[in-house]
Amino acid sequence: GSFVHSHGTKVFIKSRLDGVLDAVAQARFNEKRWVWIPDPEMGYARAHVLNELSKQDTEVELESGQVKIVQTKDVFAMNPPQFDMAEDMAELTQLNEPCVVHNLTVRFRANQIYSGLFLVAVNPYRQLPIYSDECMQSYKGRRRGELSPHIYAVADQAYHDMLHDKENQSILITGESGAGKTENTKVAIQYLTTMASKRILNKNGTVLVNQLEQQILQANPILESFGNAQTIRNNNSSRFGKFIRIEFNMQAHICGANIEWYLLEKSRVHSQSSKERNYHIFYQLLNADKAMKEELLLNDDHASQYGFLKDSQPTIEDVDDAKEYENLINAMHIMGLKKDEIRDFLRMVAAVLHLGNIALTADYSGERADVRDFSALERTCHLLGIPAQEFKKSLLTPRIKAGRDWVNQAKSPAQVMASVDALAKTIYERNFGGLVDRINRAIDCQKTTSKMGFIGVLDIAGFEIFEVNSFEQLCINYTNEKLQQFFNHNMFVLEQEEYKKERIEWSFIDFGLDLQPTIDLIEKTNPVGILSCLEEECVAPRGTDKRFLEKLNSTWVSDDPEGKYKSIRFKESFTVKHYAGQVEYSTAGWINKNKDPLNEDITRLLARSTNRHVATLFEDYLTETEHQIPNESGLPTSSSTFSLMKLRKGGGSFRTVGQRHKQQLLSLMNTLYLTHPHFVRCILPNGRKHAGEIQALLVLDQLRCNGVLEGIRICRKGFPNRLVFADFRKRYEILCPRQASTNCFVDGRSACQTLLDSLALDSEKYRIGNTKVFFKATVLAELEEIRDRKL
Ligand code: ADP
Ligand code: MG
Repeated sequence: GSFVHSHGTKVFIKSRLDGVLDAVAQARFNEKRWVWIPDPEMGYARAHVLNELSKQDTEVELESGQVKIVQTKDVFAMNPPQFDMAEDMAELTQLNEPCVVHNLTVRFRANQIYSGLFLVAVNPYRQLPIYSDECMQSYKGRRRGELSPHIYAVADQAYHDMLHDKENQSILITGESGAGKTENTKVAIQYLTTMASKRILNKNGTVLVNQLEQQILQANPILESFGNAQTIRNNNSSRFGKFIRIEFNMQAHICGANIEWYLLEKSRVHSQSSKERNYHIFYQLLNADKAMKEELLLNDDHASQYGFLKDSQPTIEDVDDAKEYENLINAMHIMGLKKDEIRDFLRMVAAVLHLGNIALTADYSGERADVRDFSALERTCHLLGIPAQEFKKSLLTPRIKAGRDWVNQAKSPAQVMASVDALAKTIYERNFGGLVDRINRAIDCQKTTSKMGFIGVLDIAGFEIFEVNSFEQLCINYTNEKLQQFFNHNMFVLEQEEYKKERIEWSFIDFGLDLQPTIDLIEKTNPVGILSCLEEECVAPRGTDKRFLEKLNSTWVSDDPEGKYKSIRFKESFTVKHYAGQVEYSTAGWINKNKDPLNEDITRLLARSTNRHVATLFEDYLTETEHQIPNESGLPTSSSTFSLMKLRKGGGSFRTVGQRHKQQLLSLMNTLYLTHPHFVRCILPNGRKHAGEIQALLVLDQLRCNGVLEGIRICRKGFPNRLVFADFRKRYEILCPRQASTNCFVDGRSACQTLLDSLALDSEKYRIGNTKVFFKATVLAELEEIRDRKL
């Protein structure tokens, strides 16, 4: 079962429980009762039991020779040494927490970053030789368990299941920031584009790279330029979630793709912490060619000269922004973007940079702002295609409604600053959205009429529990609560339903994992949940964060049978009991974050921009009357009907951040529930971006949060592998040839029974249902091995 890489290094070492044992280690292990005990630094430490003093206390000796009395409940049995490196964790005889962490740790140290049952991937923070073309080929069409766990195996399984079951598939990749989600997403898509594309040969017989596949792959660097940034935890951190659907035609070849995006972190556009950066594109653009920079009025290449960049890190170690800029432009060309389209997208980024340089002064009273440096403002307006004087007026003295009339109200420097920041965020986000739309148009499954199905890959941040948690964390944790429920539903509920249907002997286990009460608390409308309550305060004339919290407290403190909500006295916060733990949310600024208010005088200016790209991105701010006089707005007449249609259809763009996210999430979940899911859990090994370092406590915490520990538990209790009678018989008849020749006519069930009897399998290892035979984990692997030997 091992795979030898062409360089001669053994990449996959298939561990075998019944393989060669290290006799010495085994003997040493047998001498004593080895256990794991908690260790404040290492997470767990090896020890052996000296004495069971009482029911509560056990005396143990650590490897250092130190003798200690520990609580018996904290003493965990250790697996014998031959289980080290077990690649399917369900194989472990002892399945307590330290054993799982230990297993992942030993495997990690041997550069085995992937483990089963559902895939667990630990970020190695170094390039391993496991993503070559040969490795990819070796996974093609292999059965589960034949090769070591790998993201390739998951992608291959999904592809196989789609063909075989005629069912859409999804690969759900979750984990903390820096855990490796985006890298694994790339690898999975790489696998699919390589293995499932039509091979076109040119005259010389060499393979031509398909344009569509190239475009699908190149979508990623473009998205990363605009949607990723350096953070403390990850030098290339995605600041948005995405769901990429790869579509297949009836020949099972890729015929298109589509990208959905979620929750772009907009605040990064105007402020970053000192050890982080703004979005990559800003720094890349400062390294553009001279002509481009001249056109975008970027006279200065230094990040320190731009208000939105000056507090951030100027460079990332080992990253050349000039090279990245070239890669981006190249990717955009492959995507089919014309020169002026590329310029349009970059122009918005430059406009944001100039916007950040608008300096303000205050009049003698300090209450009226004025623009100090007109040049930054003029550059911004030039790039956005809007009149500078009007923009200035809208910015400093926007119209507000006073009774029946509109009046212009002077704003203070702080208020103008806030409105500049809000504008920068929106311009950036709409440009990002426009870019994704443009990519989707390029890779859309246009021509194919009959599709076989799709494989969707979800790359989205896991639970976030920080020192201070705000609205953004609620949105992401709400998403994860729903994803975890989906995971549980699949792992526990559907599995046990199948047992019931097949009437196998099984007592239903209630894992108490129903996450609905927490989800209700967040999304319900009656009683009014967190999001709806926030919504109500946002439309209320004098809504405040304080009133929002009071209303929430008065609704949920009394009406919360499951105890998911807790108000915190004398603090502007509340807590929610999530699957991953209790999280305290500070409610300061929520109304503003949810409303995301914009100066509508300015958005109307943008909607009437002389630049087509800008006008299109803001066309939902055009009023009906303005649509009837399109020429005055600078829009060509031909596009005006289109805008009007879109305006009516997409009236939803005025929704709040929370509502929009809830809607998007609902649609994602509806899609996911119609797919066969494959789960990938990514694990961050340490908080320092170091190769080769693994911190047990950090890993353990993640395994608890992401349901891995519970998932393994049920898999072992249950019967994860199954075959219908006919398939089982066909494949394993060879293990018992006599039966095949004499009993061809007996029914499937008794044939299976006979076959299993003759194999002398422990009756606890399998169950015979109505139509299928079910196996505990590892049993099929054993049968396969016997079969291999017979063949
Ligand atoms: P996430 O998307 O979960 O935040 P990333 O996928 O961006 O994390 O990974 C963070 C960094 O870790 C990557 O930029 C890369 O340097 C490293 N990394 C992650 N997974 C792998 C891997 N399988 N092999 C090598 N390096 C990896
Ligand atoms: Mg990422």
